[in-house]
Amino acid sequence: MLKPKLISQLRKIVGKETVLTSKEDLTTYSYDATAIWTHMPDAVVLPTTTEQVSQVLKLANENRIPVTPRGGGSGLSGGSIPIKGGIVLCTTKMNKILEINKTNLSATVEPGVVLQDFNIALAKEGLFYPPDPQSFLSCTIGGTVAENAGGPSCAKYGVTKQYVLGLEVVLASGYIMNLGGVTPKNRTGYEIATLFVGSEGTLGVITKIVLRLLPMPPAQKSMLAIFDDMVVAGNAVSNILASGVMPSKVEFVDNWLIRRFEELTPMGLPIDANALLLFEASGSPETVETEIQQIIDICYRSGARETKLAKNQAEADKIWKTRSTAMAAVFSAAHTVLTEDVAVPRDKIAQFIQGCQEISQKYDVAIPLVGHAADGNIHPHVLTDQRNTEHFERAKKIMDELFAMALSLGGTISGEHGIGLEKQHFLDKAMDPMAIDLMKKIKGILDPNNILNPGKIWAE
Ligand SMILES: Cc1cc2nc3c(=O)[nH]c(=O)nc-3n(C[C@H](O)[C@H](O)[C@H](O)COP(=O)(O)OP(=O)(O)OC[C@H]3O[C@@H](n4cnc5c(N)ncnc54)[C@H](O)[C@@H]3O)c2cc1C
Repeated sequence: MLKPKLISQLRKIVGKETVLTSKEDLTTYSYDATAIWTHMPDAVVLPTTTEQVSQVLKLANENRIPVTPRGGGSGLSGGSIPIKGGIVLCTTKMNKILEINKTNLSATVEPGVVLQDFNIALAKEGLFYPPDPQSFLSCTIGGTVAENAGGPSCAKYGVTKQYVLGLEVVLASGYIMNLGGVTPKNRTGYEIATLFVGSEGTLGVITKIVLRLLPMPPAQKSMLAIFDDMVVAGNAVSNILASGVMPSKVEFVDNWLIRRFEELTPMGLPIDANALLLFEASGSPETVETEIQQIIDICYRSGARETKLAKNQAEADKIWKTRSTAMAAVFSAAHTVLTEDVAVPRDKIAQFIQGCQEISQKYDVAIPLVGHAADGNIHPHVLTDQRNTEHFERAKKIMDELFAMALSLGGTISGEHGIGLEKQHFLDKAMDPMAIDLMKKIKGILDPNNILNPGKIWAE
């Protein structure tokens, strides 16, 4: 509970209307898109300027009050949950696109810009920003930078960190620091801006972002391939990648999800198929034609039952709607869904899929699979019910087995969602102890009073 004097100081900084303290408001900011984590903040502030962010942090630092930065609250690792109480600093009112520079192929934005709004503004200029987490309707650019988010297009174009040229960051002390710049190349000193990408709100509050852009690819084609066997589909992905073809998107959907889609919004998907692969090729019209034909050929050679090429944009949109509604389809199917985000080397995708099937059978728990196949980043969703202790214990054991399997295949415990609260207990198995120690030392230098998102990434 914050003292009334502190609340009134916060109101002086950001304005009366943008400090929230009612139970209803605090509840709204007590959870994210994870299923099991929740904690009430003592206050929520919604600053509109960098200067306000700086003053809020200065005040919090002097009074040793935890501050949890928050964007759209769509995180899947518990990062924006104020697990130690204190202040939630939500950036959604800092939502201006400050500049789109067509010649420099860059854009400068405030952190609260919703990704979809940014994409729409860029499309009008014929420009393209590839990182496309499937929460694009609600996630903010600040949140995607803090998580180093990925998405389907990252298969060909790379993840968020490959697009961050410069950052303005407010440190726990209130100091406003500028990092990087607007040039596509910058070799001045250590890559400190990159340190903040994926730092999950623990090192500073990101208040301005300069992003690298690409011209919109002139042509795109989408298709899906139908498989009777999930493992065969996994092998098809490896075969395509090994052939030298680089699709812009390769997404995997299993039989559980195919049936669920057809139950919720029938689209004519084959409910007897065991897996679908969704593809997009992008580039010049000639390249797209050649690549899509190569993908079709390799799919058949790898054992696909059938392939379907989208004949027009409406059909392509239908294919990608399948993918973007996958989380809603899964989350509406069980009381508690544990979403995993492990990533394995691209040549181990089939082994990973097979392992998931075995774990599902062993524990008699459904684990729908969907995800970014070309990045080896397939999300197993463990369907459980937290109110049923015995079932939930089985689900937790499954999570541990999934983490262990990913590591044993040479993979990692998070491909894009971050560690947050959800994966802390496996951190020491996934990272060199010296590297964990170094992270803690960096945190200690930048935030000596541990006010910024305390309790995240590693347990305290
Ligand atoms: C339906 C659905 C689909 C998804 N698909 C994908 C996907 O394909 N790929 C993917 O990578 N993720 C995906 N996610 C996860 C999530 O959307 C991403 O992690 C996204 O980057 C979070 O953005 P946000 O604005 O909602 O951040 P929040 O959830 O609000 O915060 C996430 C983290 O960033 C920190 N943070 C937020 N803003 C700032 C800031 N300005 N400065 C410093 N730290 C900050 C928070 O403290 C927290 O640790 C999905 C989530 C959902 C619900």
